[in-house]
Amino acid sequence: MNNSPIKEGGRLSGGQMSDLTPLLLEWYAEHRRVFPWREEATPYRIWVSEIMLQQTRIEAALPYFERFIAALPTVKALAEADEGRLLKLWEGLGYYSRVRNLQKAAKIIMSDHGGELPASYEGLLALPGIGEYTAGAIASTAFGIPVPAVDGNVLRVMARLLGDRGDVMSPPVRRYLREEVCAMLPDDAPGEFNQAIMELGETVCLPNAVPLCSQCPLSGGCTGFAKGHPEELPVRAAKKARRVENRTVLVVIADKRVLLHRRAPHGLLAGMWELPNTEGWLTPAEAADYIKPWDGQLRDIAAEPLGGGKHLFSHVEWRMQGVKFQTAAFEPPEDYIWADAAQLLNDYALPSAFRPYAKHLMEWLDAGERNR
Ligand code: SF4
Repeated sequence: MNNSPIKEGGRLSGGQMSDLTPLLLEWYAEHRRVFPWREEATPYRIWVSEIMLQQTRIEAALPYFERFIAALPTVKALAEADEGRLLKLWEGLGYYSRVRNLQKAAKIIMSDHGGELPASYEGLLALPGIGEYTAGAIASTAFGIPVPAVDGNVLRVMARLLGDRGDVMSPPVRRYLREEVCAMLPDDAPGEFNQAIMELGETVCLPNAVPLCSQCPLSGGCTGFAKGHPEELPVRAAKKARRVENRTVLVVIADKRVLLHRRAPHGLLAGMWELPNTEGWLTPAEAADYIKPWDGQLRDIAAEPLGGGKHLFSHVEWRMQGVKFQTAAFEPPEDYIWADAAQLLNDYALPSAFRPYAKHLMEWLDAGERNR
């Protein structure tokens, strides 16, 4: 039954959608890509991969996944891992709340579920960091439970298949597309189906490009393809622009160590170690005045401009200017520490926002060593 208020005369609806399911599964059996979490598909590995892939491309996540699983091969190891080690394993992936929630959930699994991931959609959904999509992906793939796993790829494929021109960000349209996925979902292979439709979205029904309809097993039943210009789907209402923040990043080096600051336990990059930074673009002289109170002896500090960098968070864009200081060591203020090169490598995960400056840090710290 077609219950979408906005669908434009599509060719398929309701039960007919399920006619496409065998075609999709056949295509997947032949074209599925090999990934470590598919080849050894334990609930723990599937869970870690799903969390890692939430904001990260598959190619980028692969080496992280291997390293993470080698270091923390079980739920127990994850629950007991030291926070610094955990963040270090995640360094470069960004969105650190993902790994923090992963550990919170692991602790709950140890205390409430005997160390095994709960084998139900509701049980998974109740864990920190697991939303509808992830619960559906784990429940169907790891436990064969017939629930959908609807992410952006699946919404795109469904909007095109159905020729649906509703705003894909609106809850009624998402609900409708999810119901249509349910109509296609086979009881005997829900995990294969969920992976197949995602795979189709990632490799054939591509975003931001002309979809490869000539290679698509579903083209014979696709309304978007039949009507032309499927690449115009899905429709998205214009996004709110990100807020732009100008910031000055302070790279303070003394005695082969760099000054790090721990962020507040809530909000953006909560609790992360970072290079000290402040709002607005300060000149080197203003930046020197800014840090002088940290050094009780108010020494003259040599400042050097480092140039700009940019980082996009989901709602904020940082436009950064860096200033580097070479100074004598001083007692760091509260929430600040000095870190040497080994600690930076092993203990303190700097958020990727600081990559424009962090990539030179080792060089600067080594240079400090040579100059001594
Ligand atoms: Fe996507 Fe084209 Fe396949 Fe339709 S036919 S699902 S638009 S790739």
